[in-house]
Amino acid sequence: METNAFPSDLYACDSQIRFHGYDPDEALLKVAPREGERLLRQEDILQLIADEGEQIALVMLGGLNYYTGQVLDMQEITQAGHAKGCLVGFDLAHAAGNIPLSLHEWDVDFATWCTYKYMCSGPGGPSAVYINQRFLGDPDIPRFEGWWGHDKGERFLMEPHFKAIPSAEAWQLSNAPILPLATLKASLEIFGEVGMQKLREKSVALTDYLAHLIQPLMDKGEIELITPKHADQRGAQLSLFIPERGKERFQKLMEVGVICDWREPNVIRLAPSPLYNTFEDVWEAANALQA
Ligand SMILES: *Cc1c(COP(=O)(O)O)cnc(C)c1O
Repeated sequence: METNAFPSDLYACDSQIRFHGYDPDEALLKVAPREGERLLRQEDILQLIADEGEQIALVMLGGLNYYTGQVLDMQEITQAGHAKGCLVGFDLAHAAGNIPLSLHEWDVDFATWCTYKYMCSGPGGPSAVYINQRFLGDPDIPRFEGWWGHDKGERFLMEPHFKAIPSAEAWQLSNAPILPLATLKASLEIFGEVGMQKLREKSVALTDYLAHLIQPLMDKGEIELITPKHADQRGAQLSLFIPERGKERFQKLMEVGVICDWREPNVIRLAPSPLYNTFEDVWEAANALQA
């Protein structure tokens, strides 16, 4: 995995490794940005897989990094991992509802994401998993099971032996939280109505516009854009590294109604959301930042 992964991913991998009786310091291989750089290089990920792949069980990376906003080429990483016999999975918490994803086509083994960010289900909204169909229907797959993964027709017979639903639903443990699902359903209906392609088109235009408007601040060295410059390597978000008085500037932005967020160290994340942000919102946010 990557050194700058979201903390939950690091904790999950560390604890899984310990659960399997290994030492994370030895068993977890991490890719880091090169000295003096902030982004991962795709070639460094591929190189690590090429060098160590034979002893790697699982390649697990954030498809869109929460801190830098960098998008990885998930298809290429999946191919490289599979060529060495590794399973390949992605954390898509920041990618779902933000960039187009073709997990089936890319042959990703699994992915997981929360729905409370770009997918608008609200804080604590349900999470989701993608499981490649090649794993479905395998009764011997190592998996922790609960009653909500059991065949729906027979679930309430309360039988002692688990009969998996032949879909990713087999990974569900407990019954679903209905109130947060209701907000997620409302959001998904809007996504379905508009379509990811149109949303992505507007998203690229909004974010490019924001980058254009803050260019003068970058030229003056007051902020540094750490997110990749090309639209195909980023989603909606721009991560702005603020060398001085970052937190104060973040608080000022919030005071004037620009809802952004602060990530230690020194980063303001601005993410115009194509579902409800306008070009005027972006213009106002850039003016506020300038001020
Ligand atoms: C927000 C986030 C998470 C946390 O998701 P939870 O559903 O709160 O556990 C995990 N990974 C990434 C990359 C995130 O941005």
